[in-house]
Amino acid sequence: MQPLRRADCEALDRADPLRHFHDRFHLPSGLIYLDGNSLGAMPKSVPARIARLLEQEWGDDLIRGWTKDGWMDLPLAVGAKIGSLIGAGEGETVVADSTSVNLFKVLGAALRLRPDRRVILSECTNFPTDLYIAQGLAAMIGGDYAVRAVERSEIEAALSPDIAVVMLTQVDYRTGRQWDVKQITALAHRAGALAVWDFSHSAGAVPLDFDGDKADFAVGCGYKYLSGGPGAPAFLTIARRHLQQTEMPITGWLGHAEPFAFEPGFRAAEGVGRARVGTPPILSLAALEVGVDLVREATVPALRAKSVQQTELFATLTAQELDGFGFALASPAAADQRGSQVSLRHERGWPITQALIAANVIGDFRAPDIVRFGFAPLYVRYVDVWDAVATLKRIMVERQWEQPQFSAAPTGVT
Ligand SMILES: *Cc1c(COP(=O)(O)O)cnc(C)c1O
Repeated sequence: MQPLRRADCEALDRADPLRHFHDRFHLPSGLIYLDGNSLGAMPKSVPARIARLLEQEWGDDLIRGWTKDGWMDLPLAVGAKIGSLIGAGEGETVVADSTSVNLFKVLGAALRLRPDRRVILSECTNFPTDLYIAQGLAAMIGGDYAVRAVERSEIEAALSPDIAVVMLTQVDYRTGRQWDVKQITALAHRAGALAVWDFSHSAGAVPLDFDGDKADFAVGCGYKYLSGGPGAPAFLTIARRHLQQTEMPITGWLGHAEPFAFEPGFRAAEGVGRARVGTPPILSLAALEVGVDLVREATVPALRAKSVQQTELFATLTAQELDGFGFALASPAAADQRGSQVSLRHERGWPITQALIAANVIGDFRAPDIVRFGFAPLYVRYVDVWDAVATLKRIMVERQWEQPQFSAAPTGVT
């Protein structure tokens, strides 16, 4: 096979049906951004939307905005839009709180639907907050409640009769490996357990079929592929068949059937609105809606098709250009088994990532040795994939990563 050249990537960009979306995002010139799986780029129309919200809605409408501008309905309205991206039906999804808090809410609700069981099953390499939340919940309930975190390969065998809930992240944040939602949910159900899915690294990038796969609950992040902005509120989905019986462990006034009746006792709202807690963050919700609308316009199947091509291209180019530099693929080699990211293992992953960032290619590092590249297909171009690999090659050939400023110990969020 002929080696790929940059011109081949330029041709792919010209033929890309999603190429116009790149210009609808604010991206600093000269920067290659491969971290949209961690914090999505800003849609260019966000500042105008926020300005309108500030000046007209908050500024002029003041408290009337809750009805006049539809603020009160925004969590369900944006939730419905996100629901359409994950295969959830009408009225199953709401936007609220953070992913961590939503996990607490759905895990608590799920445990109450399986009162004779005590264990939350997960994998030990799950995203830490997911495990921490489950641990905190189990500790708070007390008694025999516990979290059992096993190796990925042991999940199926661990589905014993004491498992109340299986809690998994559909796309692994380190490796990008996907779980088969349908298969694992079916196994969980056969074992009498419920399935709680974290779609944080899936929503807006990977086709999902929450209803078709019979999932019970889901949560996910608004600021990754959905480009909702830093700290954007998260989403939460409850299968329709559970809605009536679902009792949320946090019962705030906005989850009440009639918040403005100011009754002394809690009565849950009819639908997924019962998973609301307090007053929604309207500024953040408005920004999130802009990102969600762009994903809907592009459509998930088209995004997935491009993302598969880009991760394939990246894997091919790293094999072609970086042979002998000590990299190994940490993501599944088969595109259908990974999300929209490719991770490489390298024992000097941390300084290499820092040198890349200094050279204007933003990926990130996850301990102990993973250099992670996310391909947000709304705005990443094929030439960006080429340029990222070319930059990485230069850093390795010139041994730039050995410079002392790149080896300071990993700290904070990168
Ligand atoms: C990003 C991410 C989160 C983030 O949770 P926050 O509450 O928004 O901080 C949680 N779980 C997974 C699997 C994630 O990828």
